[in-house]
Amino acid sequence: MKHHFSIIITLMIFIFIHTTVAAQADTGKPNITILATGGTIAGSSASKTDTTDYQAGSLGIQTLIDAVPELNHIAHITGEQIANVDSNDIDNHILLTLSKKVNQLLSQNQQGVVITHGTDTLEESAFFLSLTVKQSKPTVFVGAMRPATAISADGPMNLLEAVTLAASPQAQQRGTMVVLNDRIASAFYVTKTNAVSNDTFKAIEQGYLGLFINGQPKFFYTPAAPIDQVYFDVSQLTNLPRVDIIYVHQGQDATLLNAAISAGAKGIVIDATGNGNMPKALEEAVAKALTKNIPIVITSRTGAGYVSNKKQGISSGFLNAQKSRILLQLAIATGANLTQIETYFDHQR
Ligand code: ASP
Repeated sequence: MKHHFSIIITLMIFIFIHTTVAAQADTGKPNITILATGGTIAGSSASKTDTTDYQAGSLGIQTLIDAVPELNHIAHITGEQIANVDSNDIDNHILLTLSKKVNQLLSQNQQGVVITHGTDTLEESAFFLSLTVKQSKPTVFVGAMRPATAISADGPMNLLEAVTLAASPQAQQRGTMVVLNDRIASAFYVTKTNAVSNDTFKAIEQGYLGLFINGQPKFFYTPAAPIDQVYFDVSQLTNLPRVDIIYVHQGQDATLLNAAISAGAKGIVIDATGNGNMPKALEEAVAKALTKNIPIVITSRTGAGYVSNKKQGISSGFLNAQKSRILLQLAIATGANLTQIETYFDHQR
């Protein structure tokens, strides 16, 4: 009897020490919130070999978290569903909600925030957050090129790496980043370069910030901000102005530009040829629009390089059309005039 009693006491002490140590270890883990918006990472199909005809944005955040139990070894994970859409349906309201939410979470007790997102427009949302979240803690965008139901789905590993990065002390002071295919990129510069391949997010001129080796982030450089980094306070905004993009091609006239203005565009991005060129008919229409005080930003459809100063319009510098559109929306929404808008683009600080 006495023997049994001492076994029970020993067992109780063991359980007490064990749970106390476990609890201590647990409280040492950082808090990471995953905000889910949909996309292929939350996509599903009846067929394991289907990588193009699946339904994007169909699985909930808890299903994505449950699929990767290793996330719980890294951090205290909280999941929140902000939307569950194909990223082509991300709108101004979702962007503003994400930005406000991330600012709030990072001002509180969260070490970092991860945002799951469709890859098609991921670079736009990530750029938007890089311009509107001014925090030393990291925001990490992640997506996938294969749906969750596919053989060799890339989502689970991408998600694990994104959470690992958000929880890493090395991610501090690096702003908003994008993680896919073992690569870490700056949200400011990265763009989707391939319609179907896993190896799609690149910054052709600026390169990557780092990569993952055996599950751990390795950075190439100490933290630095993009030289053209600006910040906008969106805490009071409830919507963003309409800004349209016009893609330039041979034989183009003024029809689309005039239609955009009639539709109520407050600003326009012309995705021009080469170093910001276009047919004469469109050039004349641009000059006319500028006299009506409609800001027009000129980008290059080449996919890389630099748009230098233009006689007409505002040159975008290194920014592509979709990123220029976001910057122009933010500039107009916060009341910038034409001269101020010019300083936001192509202004090496
Ligand atoms: N159409 C999908 C989306 O952007 C593609 C993807 O996520 O890879 O939501």
